[in-house]
Amino acid sequence: MSQILVDIQKLRKTFSMGGSFSISGQRLIHAVNDVDLQIFQTETLGLVGESGCGKSTLSRLITALERPTSGSVFFEGKNIYLYSKEELKKYRRNVQLVFQDPYSSLNPRRSAQSIIAEPLVIHRMGNKNERRGMALELMEKVGLTAQQAHRYPHEFSGGQRQRIGIARALVLRPQLIIADEPVSALDVSIQAQILNLLKSLKYDFGLTYLFVSHDLNVIRHMADRIAVMYLGKIVELAPQEKIYANPSHPYTRLLLSAVPSFVPGVKKSFIPVKGEAGMENEKGCNFQNRCVYKKEICAQQEPLLREIENKRFCSCHLAGAI
Ligand code: SF4
Repeated sequence: MSQILVDIQKLRKTFSMGGSFSISGQRLIHAVNDVDLQIFQTETLGLVGESGCGKSTLSRLITALERPTSGSVFFEGKNIYLYSKEELKKYRRNVQLVFQDPYSSLNPRRSAQSIIAEPLVIHRMGNKNERRGMALELMEKVGLTAQQAHRYPHEFSGGQRQRIGIARALVLRPQLIIADEPVSALDVSIQAQILNLLKSLKYDFGLTYLFVSHDLNVIRHMADRIAVMYLGKIVELAPQEKIYANPSHPYTRLLLSAVPSFVPGVKKSFIPVKGEAGMENEKGCNFQNRCVYKKEICAQQEPLLREIENKRFCSCHLAGAI
């Protein structure tokens, strides 16, 4: 196993909303709830879960665009929330985002070349000619041509716009790319092209990916390991092949049961199909209202994420027995 690049420790982000769930009259939402997670150098960690489970909040916390309520994120051993201004600037070069909707993330008044080179201008890197050269080189790397350099975003297709977004993310030569639903706004026919491009760029540039998606087919194609998130917590973490061959957590089974092309490993009768994503429970397991395996202990005691076999972690009292 390679070295740890990102080490997330007891990370928590709580939002308060109007209501009567706490002493102060505010309802507390734990968008990210005591998450411990490591991302290793050059791996692709898939982060999967339903909409609203905390995936995007966790991503923003890792980029330091948002501050946590408590907990830490260490990048190459250093706590990013204790960075000096200069260190934070360097970190922002090292960690880049690829967004879901390439159109809204690209400035419509700038040419492709100018969009790709913009981070170099912001970070005062290179002269005009060097920046132009790097932008053109990256356009080629992502499957665009120099002839398209002066075109504007509306002159490109959705897939081509995502290629521009990827080139812009790469221009500062980052170590970590956080791709948040990078293909979910694209036609299915284009999705595979972009995923394959991201895969080949990973090897060319020695990148590490945190790949965020609700789509298990996409995650399967991309990830080395998969972290399954439910109501702000990681409920299962394992190598990709283990998750797909034999999901341990009932929530992972539920997610996989909704994937049309999912075939091996899970018998239909083993797939719980109760309800929709709910609220946190004050006591016990957060998944208990949807879980067909629920036992008495599940309502009493919160299951902790524990290693149930080599490299497989699961937070379920019955893990390994169902
Ligand atoms: Fe279901 Fe209990 Fe496991 Fe929670 S701890 S997922 S309720 S079996």
